[in-house]
Amino acid sequence: MVEGILFIVSAPSGAGKTSLVKALLERDAELSLSVSCTTRPVRPGERDGVHYHFLVQDQFRAELAEGAFLEHAEVFGNYYGTREADVRHCIASGRDLMLEIDWQGARQVRERFPAAVGVFVLPPSVQVLEQRLRGRGTDSDDVIARRMTQAHDEMRHYDEYDYLVVNDRFETALDALAAIVSAERQRLAHQRPRLASLLGQIASE
Ligand code: 5GP
Repeated sequence: MVEGILFIVSAPSGAGKTSLVKALLERDAELSLSVSCTTRPVRPGERDGVHYHFLVQDQFRAELAEGAFLEHAEVFGNYYGTREADVRHCIASGRDLMLEIDWQGARQVRERFPAAVGVFVLPPSVQVLEQRLRGRGTDSDDVIARRMTQAHDEMRHYDEYDYLVVNDRFETALDALAAIVSAERQRLAHQRPRLASLLGQIASE
C-alpha cells in the first residue's frame, strides 16, 4: 500500500480557508479532512466528531500527557490538537489527508512528516482582509483591531509553506488549491510505487 499525501493548510481568519477546503473536499473524493480536537465552545451548526472533537480541558490535557497529539497549539485562548493515530491510520490506508491547522501546528507536523505539503491561503490585500473581518459591522473597533493583530501574527509565517494561494476570486483560488493537490499526486516519488507495474514493463522492454 502506498502512503497518502499529507497536506497542511493555514491562513489568517477571514482568508476563506474553511470554505475553500470544504469545496475542495466536495470535488475530490480521494481527499479526507482531519478532524481536530479543541477545547473551544461549539458554534451553531457544528457537530462533535464532524467539525471537531470537542473536549473539556482536562480531557485535552490527559491526551496531551499521553502523547496522543501529533501537534497542538493554543489559539485565541483555546487548545487545538491533531490526534497522531488518526493521521497515521488515514495515510497508511493510502488516502490523502488535509490538516487545517495554524502555523504553530504546521511547524510541529513538518518535524515529524518532512514530506508534508504546506499551503498558505492569503487575502488579496490587508484592506480586503479588514473589510472581511469587519463583517456585518456589528463588532467594535477594539475587536476588529484584535482580530487584525491575530491575522498578522498568522500571516507573518507564510514563508514556512510550499505554496501561497491568494483568495481573491473564490473559484480561482479553489482551482489553484485543486491544482496543487493534483500536482503533488503526479510527483515522481509518489507515482513510482503506484505505477510499479507500468514502470516495470517499460524497464523490461
Ligand atoms: P476555529 O476555532 O475558528 O475553528 O479555528 C481557529 C484556528 O485554529 C484556525 O487558524 C485553525 O486553523 C486552527 N486550528 C484548528 N484545528 C487545529 C489543530 O488541530 N491544530 C492547530 N495547531 N490549529 C488548529
